[in-house]
Amino acid sequence: MDAELLRQYLTFYQDLGFKDLYLRQEASIPVHKEQAALPVLPDLAPSGDTLDKIRADIGDCTRCRLHAGRHSIVFGSGNGQAKLVFVGEGPGADEDKQGLPFVGRAGQLLTQMIDGTAQREGIPLERKDVYICNVVKCRPPENRTPEPDEMEICGEFLYRQLMAIRPKAICALGATAARALLGRKEGVTRLRGNWYKWRDVPLMVTYHPSYLLRPYNQNAKREAWEDLKKVLHYVYD
Ligand code: URA
Repeated sequence: MDAELLRQYLTFYQDLGFKDLYLRQEASIPVHKEQAALPVLPDLAPSGDTLDKIRADIGDCTRCRLHAGRHSIVFGSGNGQAKLVFVGEGPGADEDKQGLPFVGRAGQLLTQMIDGTAQREGIPLERKDVYICNVVKCRPPENRTPEPDEMEICGEFLYRQLMAIRPKAICALGATAARALLGRKEGVTRLRGNWYKWRDVPLMVTYHPSYLLRPYNQNAKREAWEDLKKVLHYVYD
């Protein structure tokens, strides 16, 4: 690896929000003497990457502490060639039980939001036509917010999912998804309704459906519907 390639790798990982690199011990792999001192970096997006390969690479993951309490790894669901991907925070109890994202109450609201908005706007689209996944694939205990190291470890797989699908747009549901994909720490109220970019893919931030389920958030509900309308027209017009 020459200096230019190393620079490209480091820039790429910086863009993804990685701040630390570690030296992996690859004792069984013989290396040339001059390469021995270089860190072994993971590939950029492996060429020909597919959702099946990413799922296989996750395996029966024990990379972070979340594996200890999970029942299933919730990888993602929907159309693997979707033009639009929704990214949530992490599985809850129902998702952990079924192995599918957004199948509990928040998931039912997300389905209503997608199907209802599409129908009202005359866009022939249903939930099954988009792809839905989360920042972390295992349920955090008591549904707590994922820790930064958990997001960083699992983020590698989220980024690969997004790169394999190459959607026309991404919709980040809530602050955790916004933080994981944009590195922004502001609240959703500040970020929502505007376009950002994840690498070169337009990204809209909106409220997490769990937040919209709270009875006093009617105004936020209206705003979320406005955000979704913008996203659907951008992607499907
Ligand atoms: N909340 C999320 O962020 N993701 C799910 O899959 C379910 C609830």
